[in-house]
Amino acid sequence: MTNMHRTRKPKPPFNEQQQKSPGIEKKMKVAPLYKAPQYKAAGKLIGKRALITGGDSGIGRAVALLYAREGASVAITYLPVERTDAEETKIEIEELGGQCHLISGDLSKEAFCKKAVNETIKKLGGIDILVSNAAHQMRKDDISEITAEEFDKTFKTNVYAYFHLAKAAVPHMKPGSSIIVTSSETSTRAPEQLLDYSSTKGAINTFTKSLAQMLVKKGIRVNAVAPGPVWTPLNVADEGTKKSKVRQFGANQPIGRPAQPEEIAPAYVFLASEADSSYISGIVLPQMGAEPI
Ligand code: NAD
Ligand code: MG
Repeated sequence: MTNMHRTRKPKPPFNEQQQKSPGIEKKMKVAPLYKAPQYKAAGKLIGKRALITGGDSGIGRAVALLYAREGASVAITYLPVERTDAEETKIEIEELGGQCHLISGDLSKEAFCKKAVNETIKKLGGIDILVSNAAHQMRKDDISEITAEEFDKTFKTNVYAYFHLAKAAVPHMKPGSSIIVTSSETSTRAPEQLLDYSSTKGAINTFTKSLAQMLVKKGIRVNAVAPGPVWTPLNVADEGTKKSKVRQFGANQPIGRPAQPEEIAPAYVFLASEADSSYISGIVLPQMGAEPI
């Protein structure tokens, strides 16, 4: 492919903007790119049934669309206030001829994690792929500003949900199934303002590696994807992200810009597809715009 065919990706400076958490993709100035027009589907996930948490927006939405294009039926979870984003994802998938079931609720609650898995099995006929992608992030300048409640919320959403979802899904997964989780470069970079969030991402990396050992005999692979900055609602809805920081979002990466969701999503196809990655389990795959690991 020549350079002529490369899609231009948005670069900083971006419009200054701020939303309440969770952010709504529809309200973002400069819409994230999630349709992956250069991507050629090859039927890699035909007949597979996938649950994608946080599939309403950002990375999860781009993954849901690619999975549908590869032949999978999908269920996505979202928070009630994200209904418009979730419905848009569903419409896009149905327009492709795919199936998308919407499940609304709070993943920081164990009961909802179980419900999300059970509803996926009921509506799609089973579960072969779990993408544990939802997360909560709220930057704070000082440890004194992180309340116990906030610390709890971050761990419950990012780590506990991953545990509860995996525990509920595994008994229903056949050999060849796959669990994929969204980690982050913050898991190793440990930025100053993200004490709780980056700690959850560190926990996710280790949980992934350990779960991969535990499930290898069942033929279930477990992997993580660790992106650098990605243009999604997450950062514009982080009240600790100054408006001026949103303006420069991704500028410090060697590539000079944030990733778009459509650039991150193909890794989730790769890790879900037995044809591509049957010998890969327990890895944390970085996607960091040339930032050295
Ligand atoms: P996003 O806001 O589009 O997606 C996050 C989703 O998490 C939301 O859509 C929401 O549905 C869900 N969520 C949050 N709290 C929840 C709760 N209590 N119950 C149920 N759902 C809840 O943003 P995104 O950037 O696409 O985030 C997806 C993943 O990517 C997250 O794990 C995030 O940590 C990770 N990540 C993002 C970046 C980035 O720069 N955007 C970088 C590295 C990793
Ligand atoms: Mg959302």
